[in-house]
Amino acid sequence: MTTDDTDDGGGDQAFRRTPPAPGRWAEMTYGGALSFLRRPYSRDAAAADVVVAGMPYDGATTFRPGARLGPRAIRAASASLAELAAFPFGFDPFDTLSVIDWGDCFLDPHHPGSIPGAIADHARHVLATGAKLLTLGGDHFVTWPLLKAHAERHGPLALVQFDAHADVWEDDGGRFDHGTMMLRALREGLVDPARSVQVGVRTHGASDYGVDVLTAPWLRRNGPEAALDVIRRRVRDAPAYVSFDIDCLDPAFAPGTGTPVAGGPSSAEALALVRGLVDLNIKGMDVMEVSPPYDHAEVTALAAATVAHDLLCVLARQSGAEGRSPGRL
Ligand code: MN
Ligand code: MN
Repeated sequence: MTTDDTDDGGGDQAFRRTPPAPGRWAEMTYGGALSFLRRPYSRDAAAADVVVAGMPYDGATTFRPGARLGPRAIRAASASLAELAAFPFGFDPFDTLSVIDWGDCFLDPHHPGSIPGAIADHARHVLATGAKLLTLGGDHFVTWPLLKAHAERHGPLALVQFDAHADVWEDDGGRFDHGTMMLRALREGLVDPARSVQVGVRTHGASDYGVDVLTAPWLRRNGPEAALDVIRRRVRDAPAYVSFDIDCLDPAFAPGTGTPVAGGPSSAEALALVRGLVDLNIKGMDVMEVSPPYDHAEVTALAAATVAHDLLCVLARQSGAEGRSPGRL
């Protein structure tokens, strides 16, 4: 079968096409094999610009579990985005960007000590091919081994973290805790605080540890454009890692998450922020903390899928994609 075999009208491109699989096939929004944005399932990272991988892990949650079910929910919610021209970009990101779905990393729940190493090894393997990673969580602890692998390749990272929490509670270096790993990453030199920004924070840490923290009230008062201005000036051309904890959103827009905190930005505000990251030197990305058992009507999964989709569009824009606005923006 060729990659362009559309004799029967398309469908199931998740397993019927091979990378780079530009553009898209017709799919039934409500049926067929699910992958993230219907990209082909493949483990040929060398054939891809971006590898999307799921991390079904929630062993480090402090409150409500369920993020282990996040990757499959995000994939399901992405089906409706896969058939539309990317709004507001007005292009098909897959005309310029080859994206594969790796599937979920195998993480052995009965040997939890092996999990951070498995995540880091997966990331090292993908990054060694030159492809970038977009990881779907899973709880936010997963970001720590991802940061480790990215920092090994690119040096200390400019972290752009969207989160209700700064995730800098005290850490003894060995905890499995989704509330401490950013302090650990800072202490290990994986993250350069002078180049890093946390957005949407509305909980207290012992210190800002040198990171520029744009709290949720600040964001509400100043708006996404002012936040983007801060982010651009701080990150500049440093190798950047974008980590989006879905609990950055107000629980009205993301109820399905482990540790919701009232008083956060809307999905509209958050998407304006994500879409404005086009000037950054993005080396890696993740979307974390979707907990489907606490979701309603796919609200949270759709928000997460849209954030991940728009991150891909930002990379497509950086690789030359141009489109037409559908109206006044
Ligand atoms: Mn959080
Ligand atoms: Mn977090």
